[in-house]
Amino acid sequence: MARNPFELKGKTVFVAGHTGMVGGALTRRLQPEDVELLTVKRSEVDLRDQSAVNRWFAEKRPQVVYLAAAKVGGIGANNRLRGEFIYDNLIIATNIIHAAHVNGAEKLMFLGSSCIYPKLAPQPIREDALLTGELEPTNEPYAIAKIAGIKMVEAYRSQYGSDFINVMPTNLYGAGDNYHPEYSHVVAALIRRFHEAKVAGASEVVVWGTGTPRREFLYVDDLADACIHLMKNYSSHELVNIGTGEDITIADFARVVAAVVGYTGKISFDRSKPDGTPRKLMDVDRLAKLGWRACTKLEGGILLAYQAFLREHV
Ligand code: GDP
Repeated sequence: MARNPFELKGKTVFVAGHTGMVGGALTRRLQPEDVELLTVKRSEVDLRDQSAVNRWFAEKRPQVVYLAAAKVGGIGANNRLRGEFIYDNLIIATNIIHAAHVNGAEKLMFLGSSCIYPKLAPQPIREDALLTGELEPTNEPYAIAKIAGIKMVEAYRSQYGSDFINVMPTNLYGAGDNYHPEYSHVVAALIRRFHEAKVAGASEVVVWGTGTPRREFLYVDDLADACIHLMKNYSSHELVNIGTGEDITIADFARVVAAVVGYTGKISFDRSKPDGTPRKLMDVDRLAKLGWRACTKLEGGILLAYQAFLREHV
Protein backbone atom coordinates (compact mmCIF):
# COMPACT_ATOMS: atom_id res chain seq x y z
CA MET A 1 0.00 0.00 0.00
CA ALA A 2 0.90 3.69 -0.21
CA ARG A 3 3.08 3.24 -3.26
CA ASN A 4 3.35 6.88 -4.34
CA PRO A 5 3.79 8.19 -6.93
CA PHE A 6 2.19 5.35 -8.84
CA GLU A 7 3.49 4.97 -12.40
CA LEU A 8 0.78 4.69 -15.07
CA LYS A 9 3.13 4.69 -18.06
CA GLY A 10 3.35 1.37 -19.88
CA LYS A 11 0.59 -0.22 -17.79
CA THR A 12 -2.55 -1.95 -18.98
CA VAL A 13 -5.41 0.28 -17.84
CA PHE A 14 -9.02 -0.90 -17.88
CA VAL A 15 -11.66 1.80 -18.03
CA ALA A 16 -14.89 0.08 -17.02
CA GLY A 17 -17.78 2.06 -18.48
CA HIS A 18 -15.90 3.69 -21.36
CA THR A 19 -19.09 4.42 -23.32
CA GLY A 20 -20.47 6.59 -20.53
CA MET A 21 -19.75 10.27 -20.00
CA VAL A 22 -17.12 9.68 -17.30
CA GLY A 23 -15.49 6.67 -18.95
CA GLY A 24 -15.33 8.58 -22.23
CA ALA A 25 -13.55 11.49 -20.56
CA LEU A 26 -11.14 9.08 -18.84
CA THR A 27 -10.22 7.38 -22.11
CA ARG A 28 -9.59 10.79 -23.72
CA ARG A 29 -7.45 11.93 -20.80
CA LEU A 30 -5.45 8.67 -20.77
CA GLN A 31 -4.32 9.12 -24.40
CA PRO A 32 -1.16 11.14 -23.59
CA GLU A 33 -0.28 8.91 -20.63
CA ASP A 34 1.30 6.20 -22.77
CA VAL A 35 -0.77 3.36 -21.33
CA GLU A 36 -2.28 0.31 -22.97
CA LEU A 37 -5.97 1.13 -22.73
CA LEU A 38 -8.41 -1.75 -22.25
CA THR A 39 -12.13 -1.34 -22.78
CA VAL A 40 -14.93 -3.79 -23.36
CA LYS A 41 -18.32 -3.36 -25.00
CA ARG A 42 -21.49 -4.40 -23.22
CA SER A 43 -22.25 -6.80 -26.10
CA GLU A 44 -18.96 -8.61 -25.32
CA VAL A 45 -19.06 -8.56 -21.51
CA ASP A 46 -22.09 -7.53 -19.49
CA LEU A 47 -20.48 -6.18 -16.32
CA ARG A 48 -23.46 -7.49 -14.33
CA ASP A 49 -22.51 -11.05 -15.33
CA GLN A 50 -20.03 -12.32 -12.76
CA SER A 51 -18.74 -15.26 -14.83
CA ALA A 52 -18.21 -13.07 -17.89
CA VAL A 53 -16.36 -10.47 -15.83
CA ASN A 54 -14.19 -13.14 -14.18
CA ARG A 55 -13.32 -14.68 -17.55
CA TRP A 56 -12.41 -11.30 -19.04
CA PHE A 57 -10.22 -10.33 -16.07
CA ALA A 58 -8.46 -13.71 -16.03
CA GLU A 59 -7.61 -13.27 -19.70
CA LYS A 60 -6.62 -9.56 -19.73
CA ARG A 61 -5.30 -9.12 -16.18
CA PRO A 62 -5.39 -5.30 -16.22
CA GLN A 63 -2.79 -3.70 -13.97
CA VAL A 64 -4.90 -0.62 -13.32
CA VAL A 65 -8.70 -0.33 -13.12
CA TYR A 66 -10.92 2.74 -13.27
CA LEU A 67 -14.36 1.63 -12.09
CA ALA A 68 -16.49 4.20 -13.92
CA ALA A 69 -19.22 1.78 -15.01
CA ALA A 70 -22.57 2.46 -13.38
CA LYS A 71 -26.23 2.85 -14.06
CA VAL A 72 -26.69 6.59 -13.67
CA GLY A 73 -29.39 9.16 -14.20
CA GLY A 74 -31.00 12.28 -12.85
CA ILE A 75 -33.54 12.64 -10.10
CA GLY A 76 -36.34 11.24 -12.32
CA ALA A 77 -34.46 8.04 -13.18
CA ASN A 78 -33.10 7.50 -9.67
CA ASN A 79 -36.51 7.95 -8.12
CA ARG A 80 -38.39 5.72 -10.55
CA LEU A 81 -35.93 2.96 -11.55
CA ARG A 82 -35.08 2.16 -7.93
CA GLY A 83 -34.67 -1.59 -8.39
CA GLU A 84 -32.41 -1.25 -11.42
CA PHE A 85 -30.31 1.40 -9.71
CA ILE A 86 -29.57 -0.71 -6.66
CA TYR A 87 -29.12 -4.03 -8.46
CA ASP A 88 -26.99 -2.89 -11.40
CA ASN A 89 -24.71 -0.72 -9.31
CA LEU A 90 -24.21 -3.27 -6.55
CA ILE A 91 -23.42 -6.10 -8.90
CA ILE A 92 -21.14 -4.09 -11.21
CA ALA A 93 -19.11 -2.89 -8.22
CA THR A 94 -18.81 -6.29 -6.55
CA ASN A 95 -17.97 -8.11 -9.79
CA ILE A 96 -15.21 -5.70 -10.82
CA ILE A 97 -13.65 -5.03 -7.42
CA HIS A 98 -13.47 -8.74 -6.65
CA ALA A 99 -12.15 -9.69 -10.11
CA ALA A 100 -9.49 -6.97 -9.86
CA HIS A 101 -8.42 -8.41 -6.52
CA VAL A 102 -8.38 -12.04 -7.67
CA ASN A 103 -6.44 -11.17 -10.81
CA GLY A 104 -3.79 -9.10 -9.09
CA ALA A 105 -4.62 -5.55 -10.24
CA GLU A 106 -1.98 -3.19 -8.86
CA LYS A 107 -4.40 -0.33 -8.36
CA LEU A 108 -8.12 0.36 -8.64
CA MET A 109 -10.11 3.57 -8.40
CA PHE A 110 -13.79 3.36 -7.49
CA LEU A 111 -15.90 6.35 -8.50
CA GLY A 112 -18.72 7.10 -6.09
CA SER A 113 -20.91 10.16 -5.99
CA SER A 114 -21.76 13.14 -3.79
CA CYS A 115 -25.18 11.57 -3.17
CA ILE A 116 -23.61 9.00 -0.81
CA TYR A 117 -23.54 11.70 1.86
CA PRO A 118 -26.45 12.36 4.23
CA LYS A 119 -29.23 14.58 2.87
CA LEU A 120 -28.63 17.17 5.58
CA ALA A 121 -24.84 16.88 5.90
CA PRO A 122 -23.08 20.05 7.08
CA GLN A 123 -21.96 22.10 4.06
CA PRO A 124 -19.50 22.02 2.45
CA ILE A 125 -19.55 18.24 2.81
CA ARG A 126 -16.41 16.68 4.22
CA GLU A 127 -15.44 13.12 3.44
CA ASP A 128 -16.03 12.06 7.06
CA ALA A 129 -19.76 12.87 6.74
CA LEU A 130 -20.27 9.42 5.21
CA LEU A 131 -22.82 7.36 7.19
CA THR A 132 -23.55 10.09 9.71
CA GLY A 133 -27.21 10.57 8.77
CA GLU A 134 -30.21 9.67 6.59
CA LEU A 135 -29.80 9.66 2.83
CA GLU A 136 -31.83 11.68 0.33
CA PRO A 137 -34.80 9.39 -0.48
CA THR A 138 -34.91 10.11 -4.25
CA ASN A 139 -31.52 8.50 -4.80
CA GLU A 140 -31.19 6.18 -1.83
CA PRO A 141 -30.93 2.91 -3.85
CA TYR A 142 -28.09 4.35 -5.96
CA ALA A 143 -26.37 5.79 -2.88
CA ILE A 144 -26.60 2.49 -0.96
CA ALA A 145 -25.04 0.62 -3.90
CA LYS A 146 -22.24 3.19 -4.10
CA ILE A 147 -21.67 3.03 -0.34
CA ALA A 148 -21.39 -0.76 -0.62
CA GLY A 149 -18.72 -0.29 -3.30
CA ILE A 150 -16.84 2.19 -1.11
CA LYS A 151 -16.92 -0.18 1.84
CA MET A 152 -15.79 -3.07 -0.33
CA VAL A 153 -12.79 -1.06 -1.51
CA GLU A 154 -11.98 -0.19 2.12
CA ALA A 155 -12.38 -3.81 3.24
CA TYR A 156 -10.15 -5.20 0.47
CA ARG A 157 -7.58 -2.53 1.25
CA SER A 158 -7.68 -3.47 4.90
CA GLN A 159 -7.77 -7.29 4.59
CA TYR A 160 -5.63 -7.84 1.50
CA GLY A 161 -3.51 -4.69 1.36
CA SER A 162 -4.95 -3.89 -2.09
CA ASP A 163 -4.06 -0.44 -3.42
CA PHE A 164 -7.73 0.39 -4.06
CA ILE A 165 -8.99 3.96 -3.61
CA ASN A 166 -12.36 5.76 -3.45
CA VAL A 167 -13.13 9.11 -5.07
CA MET A 168 -16.44 11.00 -4.87
CA PRO A 169 -17.24 13.22 -7.85
CA THR A 170 -19.84 15.95 -7.51
CA ASN A 171 -22.59 16.49 -10.17
CA LEU A 172 -20.95 16.18 -13.58
CA TYR A 173 -21.66 17.43 -17.10
CA GLY A 174 -19.96 17.52 -20.49
CA ALA A 175 -19.54 15.61 -23.75
CA GLY A 176 -21.21 12.21 -23.86
CA ASP A 177 -23.96 13.14 -21.39
CA ASN A 178 -27.38 11.53 -21.61
CA TYR A 179 -30.12 13.92 -22.82
CA HIS A 180 -33.13 11.76 -22.06
CA PRO A 181 -36.04 14.15 -21.34
CA GLU A 182 -37.19 12.38 -18.16
CA TYR A 183 -34.10 10.52 -16.96
CA SER A 184 -31.16 12.87 -17.57
CA HIS A 185 -29.42 15.05 -15.00
CA VAL A 186 -30.31 18.72 -14.78
CA VAL A 187 -27.49 20.05 -16.99
CA ALA A 188 -28.30 17.87 -19.99
CA ALA A 189 -32.03 18.34 -19.42
CA LEU A 190 -31.78 22.12 -19.47
CA ILE A 191 -29.34 22.31 -22.40
CA ARG A 192 -31.77 20.27 -24.43
CA ARG A 193 -34.92 22.07 -23.26
CA PHE A 194 -33.54 25.58 -23.80
CA HIS A 195 -32.13 24.60 -27.19
CA GLU A 196 -35.43 23.11 -28.34
CA ALA A 197 -37.33 26.17 -27.06
CA LYS A 198 -34.96 28.49 -28.93
CA VAL A 199 -35.32 26.53 -32.16
CA ALA A 200 -39.12 26.35 -31.80
CA GLY A 201 -39.39 30.02 -30.80
CA ALA A 202 -41.19 28.95 -27.60
CA SER A 203 -41.89 31.65 -25.02
CA GLU A 204 -41.59 29.52 -21.86
CA VAL A 205 -39.30 26.81 -20.50
CA VAL A 206 -40.24 24.79 -17.44
CA VAL A 207 -37.57 23.89 -14.87
CA TRP A 208 -38.32 21.19 -12.28
CA GLY A 209 -38.79 21.95 -8.61
CA THR A 210 -38.63 25.27 -6.80
CA GLY A 211 -35.34 26.50 -8.25
CA THR A 212 -33.94 26.90 -4.71
CA PRO A 213 -31.79 23.74 -4.36
CA ARG A 214 -28.10 24.41 -4.75
CA ARG A 215 -25.82 22.20 -6.80
CA GLU A 216 -22.12 22.10 -7.62
CA PHE A 217 -21.22 21.23 -11.23
CA LEU A 218 -17.91 19.82 -12.44
CA TYR A 219 -16.92 19.59 -16.10
CA VAL A 220 -16.27 15.92 -16.85
CA ASP A 221 -12.86 16.49 -18.47
CA ASP A 222 -11.76 18.17 -15.23
CA LEU A 223 -12.95 15.10 -13.35
CA ALA A 224 -10.90 12.85 -15.64
CA ASP A 225 -7.83 15.00 -15.02
CA ALA A 226 -8.36 14.71 -11.25
CA CYS A 227 -8.73 10.92 -11.55
CA ILE A 228 -5.41 10.59 -13.38
CA HIS A 229 -3.75 12.86 -10.81
CA LEU A 230 -5.13 10.86 -7.87
CA MET A 231 -4.32 7.49 -9.42
CA LYS A 232 -0.70 8.64 -9.59
CA ASN A 233 -0.50 10.51 -6.30
CA TYR A 234 -3.01 9.14 -3.82
CA SER A 235 -3.03 5.92 -1.84
CA SER A 236 -5.05 5.82 1.37
CA HIS A 237 -8.29 4.42 2.77
CA GLU A 238 -9.96 7.85 3.08
CA LEU A 239 -12.40 9.06 0.42
CA VAL A 240 -11.44 12.04 -1.73
CA ASN A 241 -14.15 14.47 -2.89
CA ILE A 242 -13.76 15.80 -6.43
CA GLY A 243 -15.54 19.07 -7.13
CA THR A 244 -15.09 22.75 -7.71
CA GLY A 245 -15.97 23.90 -4.16
CA GLU A 246 -18.59 26.32 -5.58
CA ASP A 247 -22.33 25.91 -5.99
CA ILE A 248 -25.27 27.75 -7.50
CA THR A 249 -29.07 27.65 -7.14
CA ILE A 250 -30.96 25.75 -9.81
CA ALA A 251 -32.77 29.00 -10.74
CA ASP A 252 -29.48 30.85 -11.34
CA PHE A 253 -28.06 27.84 -13.08
CA ALA A 254 -31.06 27.76 -15.44
CA ARG A 255 -30.33 31.41 -16.33
CA VAL A 256 -26.69 30.52 -17.10
CA VAL A 257 -27.77 27.70 -19.43
CA ALA A 258 -30.39 29.92 -21.11
CA ALA A 259 -27.76 32.62 -21.74
CA VAL A 260 -25.23 30.15 -23.19
CA VAL A 261 -27.84 28.55 -25.44
CA GLY A 262 -29.29 31.93 -26.46
CA TYR A 263 -32.84 31.40 -25.15
CA THR A 264 -34.44 34.69 -24.12
CA GLY A 265 -37.99 33.66 -23.14
CA LYS A 266 -39.56 33.08 -19.74
CA ILE A 267 -38.29 30.50 -17.22
CA SER A 268 -40.94 28.96 -14.94
CA PHE A 269 -40.79 26.33 -12.18
CA ASP A 270 -42.82 23.14 -11.84
CA ARG A 271 -43.19 22.67 -8.10
CA SER A 272 -44.81 19.26 -8.53
CA LYS A 273 -41.38 17.85 -9.45
CA PRO A 274 -38.98 16.86 -6.66
CA ASP A 275 -36.21 19.20 -5.51
CA GLY A 276 -34.09 16.40 -4.10
CA THR A 277 -31.47 17.29 -1.54
CA PRO A 278 -31.43 21.03 -0.68
CA ARG A 279 -27.69 21.40 -1.10
CA LYS A 280 -24.65 19.21 -1.77
CA LEU A 281 -21.50 21.24 -1.99
CA MET A 282 -18.29 19.27 -1.67
CA ASP A 283 -15.49 20.26 0.66
CA VAL A 284 -12.50 19.97 -1.67
CA ASP A 285 -9.72 20.75 0.84
CA ARG A 286 -8.31 17.23 0.77
CA LEU A 287 -8.16 17.33 -3.02
CA ALA A 288 -6.48 20.77 -2.98
CA LYS A 289 -3.89 19.51 -0.49
CA LEU A 290 -3.20 16.64 -2.88
CA GLY A 291 -2.35 19.25 -5.51
CA TRP A 292 -5.41 19.43 -7.76
CA ARG A 293 -7.97 22.13 -8.55
CA ALA A 294 -10.74 22.35 -11.17
CA CYS A 295 -9.90 24.78 -13.96
CA THR A 296 -13.06 24.98 -16.11
CA LYS A 297 -15.42 27.82 -15.13
CA LEU A 298 -19.15 27.11 -15.22
CA GLU A 299 -20.10 29.35 -18.20
CA GLY A 300 -17.15 28.09 -20.27
CA GLY A 301 -17.92 24.49 -19.38
CA ILE A 302 -21.60 24.84 -20.25
CA LEU A 303 -20.61 26.34 -23.60
CA LEU A 304 -18.37 23.32 -24.29
CA ALA A 305 -21.17 20.99 -23.22
CA TYR A 306 -23.65 22.80 -25.48
CA GLN A 307 -21.25 22.51 -28.42
CA ALA A 308 -20.91 18.79 -27.69
CA PHE A 309 -24.72 18.49 -27.58
CA LEU A 310 -24.99 20.18 -30.98
CA ARG A 311 -22.35 17.82 -32.39
CA GLU A 312 -23.74 14.65 -30.85
CA HIS A 313 -27.49 15.18 -31.01
CA VAL A 314 -28.60 17.78 -33.56
P1 GDP B 1 -29.58 15.39 -8.14
O1 GDP B 1 -28.41 16.28 -7.87
O2 GDP B 1 -29.34 13.97 -7.78
O3 GDP B 1 -30.85 15.93 -7.54
O4 GDP B 1 -29.71 15.32 -9.73
P2 GDP B 1 -30.37 16.15 -10.93
O5 GDP B 1 -29.27 16.66 -11.77
O6 GDP B 1 -31.34 15.25 -11.60
O7 GDP B 1 -31.21 17.35 -10.30
C1 GDP B 1 -30.59 18.45 -9.70
C2 GDP B 1 -31.63 19.49 -9.37
O8 GDP B 1 -32.10 20.11 -10.59
C3 GDP B 1 -32.88 18.98 -8.65
O9 GDP B 1 -33.26 19.93 -7.68
C4 GDP B 1 -33.92 18.95 -9.78
O10 GDP B 1 -35.24 19.08 -9.32
C5 GDP B 1 -33.50 20.18 -10.59
N1 GDP B 1 -33.99 20.18 -11.97
C6 GDP B 1 -34.59 21.23 -12.57
N2 GDP B 1 -34.98 20.91 -13.81
C7 GDP B 1 -34.59 19.63 -14.01
C8 GDP B 1 -34.71 18.75 -15.12
O11 GDP B 1 -35.29 19.06 -16.15
N3 GDP B 1 -34.18 17.51 -14.99
C9 GDP B 1 -33.54 17.13 -13.83
N4 GDP B 1 -32.99 15.90 -13.77
N5 GDP B 1 -33.43 17.94 -12.77
C10 GDP B 1 -33.96 19.17 -12.84
